[in-house]
Amino acid sequence: MTPTPPDPNNERYTRQTRTRAIGPEGQAKLAKSHALIVGVGALGCVSADLLTRAGVGQLTIIDRDLVERTNLHRQPLFIDQDALDRTPKAIAAKARLNQANPDVTIHAHIADFTPANAEDLIEHTWDLPNVIIDGTDNFETRYLINDCAVKLGIPYIYGGAIASAGSVAAFLPGDGPCLRCLHPDPPAPGSQPTCETAGVVNAVSSLVASAQAAEAMKILLGQADKVLRSMLHFDLWEATRTRLDLTNAQDPSCVCCAQKRFEFLDSTTSEPQALCGRNAVQIAPGTTTAIDLARVASTMGNPSGAQIKAYMVRAPVDHGGQTLELTCFADGRAIVEGTCDPALARAVYARYIGS
Ligand SMILES: [Zn+2]
Repeated sequence: MTPTPPDPNNERYTRQTRTRAIGPEGQAKLAKSHALIVGVGALGCVSADLLTRAGVGQLTIIDRDLVERTNLHRQPLFIDQDALDRTPKAIAAKARLNQANPDVTIHAHIADFTPANAEDLIEHTWDLPNVIIDGTDNFETRYLINDCAVKLGIPYIYGGAIASAGSVAAFLPGDGPCLRCLHPDPPAPGSQPTCETAGVVNAVSSLVASAQAAEAMKILLGQADKVLRSMLHFDLWEATRTRLDLTNAQDPSCVCCAQKRFEFLDSTTSEPQALCGRNAVQIAPGTTTAIDLARVASTMGNPSGAQIKAYMVRAPVDHGGQTLELTCFADGRAIVEGTCDPALARAVYARYIGS
């Protein structure tokens, strides 16, 4: 069913429609637009908040993880109680966004964005998103987004933040380079600093996400001539910035946008993943089939302390004398906390959910 778009004449937008950049006509366009954000962490929280308050018609958010206390210094959609409850980020973010602007339709998915489900998640509503915004923290997912964006013809707003440095770029399908034109292959796993190893200044991630939201709004307003045609890098602590011109950066032999080979989207691997900076492992099945959470709870023996909700079941489980915590989501994905050992996590998954 087509959701009712926000009223562009609502008083809440008056300071926005007064700008030359947007104006009343732009507000009406925003009200009919649809943005997709992959990852609601430091970047995704800020861009989701800005776009929701700006009055986009629909916002789809996808995130696989639970709120943790280490998130709170830079992820402004979450509060202390979300971390205490370890609420899925997609659920906590949707609740906060609905409070900020109840007129925007928020589609929230607790899911890992993988080759198995990426296209389904992008095409889940009656219309495709008009823009995809990168809120991820890893290059594998960024290359997967790039494949989807090129294949489906959707602009992709790249962003990254680490320590006191950040970068932003906009990739328009068929008009300039894609991510693989610039860097044909992602960096080797473990070769790059992460938020866990190098930390991140919250002002940096907020600035990157604000720039992403601005680029997204230009696209949603149909102002392609205003879209950033460079890769911006800046260091907020050193007060430096550089601008890499992307005007002629398209690679005529690019595997993705020239040859139309979508290697990351066509990948079939689904190995267990240790989650960044956490004593936890994610297990994702190769397919996304809804599972019976009540059955999972029953297999666990319905232990005391189990939390059973419509979207997840979580309970402590004993494995070889070691107490772990298993959170299983409705799409069959699970997070095993208390270990970094993928083999042990896989064994727990097989025992309680199935292999
Ligand atoms: Zn390319």
